[in-house]
Amino acid sequence: MLLFTPGPTPVPESVRQAMATPTLHHRTPEFEVIFKEARERLMKLFGMDECVMIASSGTGAMQACMVNLCQQKALTVNAGKFGERFGKIADAMGREKVELCYEWNTPAAVEDVETALQENGDIDAIFIQVCESAGGLRHPVEAIAKRAKEMNPDIMIVADGITAVGVEKIDITHIDALVTGSQKALMLPPGLAMIGLSSKAVEKIGKGKDYYFNLASEIKKQRENTTAYTAATTLIIGLNAIFDEIEKEGLDGLYEATEKRAKATQAALEAIGFEMYPQTPALSMSTVYDADAEPIRKLLKNKYGVNMAGGQDHLKGKIFRINQMGLIPVYESAWVVNAIELALDELGRRTFDGTAGRVFNETYFKA
Ligand SMILES: *Cc1c(COP(=O)(O)O)cnc(C)c1O
Repeated sequence: MLLFTPGPTPVPESVRQAMATPTLHHRTPEFEVIFKEARERLMKLFGMDECVMIASSGTGAMQACMVNLCQQKALTVNAGKFGERFGKIADAMGREKVELCYEWNTPAAVEDVETALQENGDIDAIFIQVCESAGGLRHPVEAIAKRAKEMNPDIMIVADGITAVGVEKIDITHIDALVTGSQKALMLPPGLAMIGLSSKAVEKIGKGKDYYFNLASEIKKQRENTTAYTAATTLIIGLNAIFDEIEKEGLDGLYEATEKRAKATQAALEAIGFEMYPQTPALSMSTVYDADAEPIRKLLKNKYGVNMAGGQDHLKGKIFRINQMGLIPVYESAWVVNAIELALDELGRRTFDGTAGRVFNETYFKA
């Protein structure tokens, strides 16, 4: 079965092998060397001043940012499940919040953020997804961050890049915290969350808040190549192994391949009559709107060996999402669009003539 869900993504063989080595103790010089290497490589991936690794799923890092970087009022952007989650975290952590809501295919508008900031002088942090995975939507995070900083240089911009880091080069000029998780573009098993931080964010964290998610104590320890609590040793070993794989073609090579695959997939699907769901599609996943999406997804899974994701809530049965994150062999993606075209034929919707595969190959290899 080809795993084509936008997280978890498949773990390469070399990474699984690296993680199969005997367990190391985390408070040892041997592990410190491994940690230091992973930290330096992560720092490069984020392109930021500081970074921390936390043993938790991605949501833990989202919560850590809320607790440590927002003291007064949060502005959250809800255009799907993950933006909604920031709002729920604010409620659970007792932070006041203003929430901007959008349909799941609609990117947040700079002007809406501007208005919210004008009306609420006490907003001290903005929480937004780079890619909202619920609908495969790319928010204009960089433009929002830039405008927000012009209005209030002290405001913290927290960007959930869980389906964007390792997908594309993100301009971090105005971003204070950039969150990612192990099971998306980094092709690791779930369980490691990572945050890139600006110097301003480190300053604002100060002594830190919370116990487990106290970013001040993590920064202090991690600068010494250790962690406040037991490190996710196996995942950090895996992180170095995936960086070894990524570095073969370099980060730019990964970004380029991801973009080419995403564009070829989109062109192929449009050529057989599909419509992309988001107004501004992210590169991390290809999200297709289809009023009768479920039979396609079922055929792909049961007959063609491809596991893609569906939609949630009001989009249940109305979209399917094809992963583009990670080092995906291009022949696998070519098979996916071909299988979708075969499924359409089987469902009596369109006669198979190989258009999807042809357009995919032409766009990927000839454009
Ligand atoms: C997957 C994902 C998360 C994190 O989810 P966890 O299950 O906690 O790892 C957060 N935000 C986005 C945009 C995601 O795609």
